[in-house]
Amino acid sequence: ARTLRIGLIPGDGIGKEVIPAGRRILEALPASLGLKFEFVNLSAGFETFEQTGTALPDKTVAILKLECDGALFGAVSSPTHPVKGYSSPIVALRKKLDLYANVRPVKTVLGAAKPIDMVIVRENTEDLYVKEERTYDTPEGKVAEAIKRISQRASSRIATIAGEIALRRQKIRAAGNPSIHKGPLVTITHKSNVLSQTDGLFRTTAREALADPRFSSVAVEEQIVDSMVYKLFRQPEAYDVIVAPNLYGDILSDGAAALVGSLGLVPSANVGEGLAIGEPCHGSAPDIMGQGIANPIATLRSAALMLEFLNEEEAAARIYAAVDANLSEGKLLSPDLGGTAKTEEVVADILGRL
Ligand code: NAD
Ligand code: MN
Repeated sequence: ARTLRIGLIPGDGIGKEVIPAGRRILEALPASLGLKFEFVNLSAGFETFEQTGTALPDKTVAILKLECDGALFGAVSSPTHPVKGYSSPIVALRKKLDLYANVRPVKTVLGAAKPIDMVIVRENTEDLYVKEERTYDTPEGKVAEAIKRISQRASSRIATIAGEIALRRQKIRAAGNPSIHKGPLVTITHKSNVLSQTDGLFRTTAREALADPRFSSVAVEEQIVDSMVYKLFRQPEAYDVIVAPNLYGDILSDGAAALVGSLGLVPSANVGEGLAIGEPCHGSAPDIMGQGIANPIATLRSAALMLEFLNEEEAAARIYAAVDANLSEGKLLSPDLGGTAKTEEVVADILGRL
């Protein structure tokens, strides 16, 4: 049996309600898969900041780095007004652990009127998110500017993982899983018609990486980011895997999430060398916290996605199938999907289908 050590970071708000569901589904996987789990409880978030003065304790980072194979991260609340010394722990975590890829699958259940099945792969470490900004005075008033940094190294590795994800999806389809797609396709997103150096470097580097012979079965296309937004809403079935620099990927992935109905359904993973952190796309949802009605599905799917990057594809497939069965039947749904079921009831139903 393989033992996987998984860090659990509930964070704030409904993070505390959905992360236990992620733990339970991992524990409920059939023994025949040969997987064992050890869990480590870790803290981060706004509450942690209020208690300890830091939103991301060094201990959390060290344990993730030195001990964990994977982790589940819930959600954190950001203060509505600037609070001295506070900064987002998830952004810091991505940087400190070099989790260079943010992977977000967006998929409808089978039989949906407008079927969608795509994965957005967002570069996670650079672009405008290097946060190198400055403001200065001029005779006409203040001017603020920011550095947009694009490197060959980061562009190459993000395109490579996008190619690998396209191949994995091809393999899953070949195993008889229904899909709206035929061939593996990676669409490179950029705005190199305007930003010829930065986005130009992203584009040419991604092209080069995807020209590697191991991706010979993967079709490669390009799309300018603004026209991609248009097409994403008009013709989402045209996409298989989308790879994008940090900012475009952030915007596209939240937009794509809107296509499938509820934030409570959409998972993500932050992936680096030797570590994958599953993270539901939603926030801490203060409007529904404490009521026991948060949809746990984004977290359950994030646990499955984490397993995919730990090369446990069969275990991941079990979780996806159990979730899809719950959604297709449509009897035990949480309020965000129009139902009346509590978090607990949804989890119990899905565990029963594993
Ligand atoms: P949110 O995602 O928390 O909530 C948006 C809406 O979706 C709310 O109406 C909420 O009730 C609903 N919703 C979200 N997840 C749900 C679930 N699992 N089940 C049912 N309904 C769900 O976004 P927000 O309200 O803009 O932000 C709230 C807080 O979360 C803020 O402090 C924000 O900074 C933070 N936030 C954190 C993350 C993150 O940790 N990755 C992401 C977005 C927002
Ligand atoms: Mn975002």
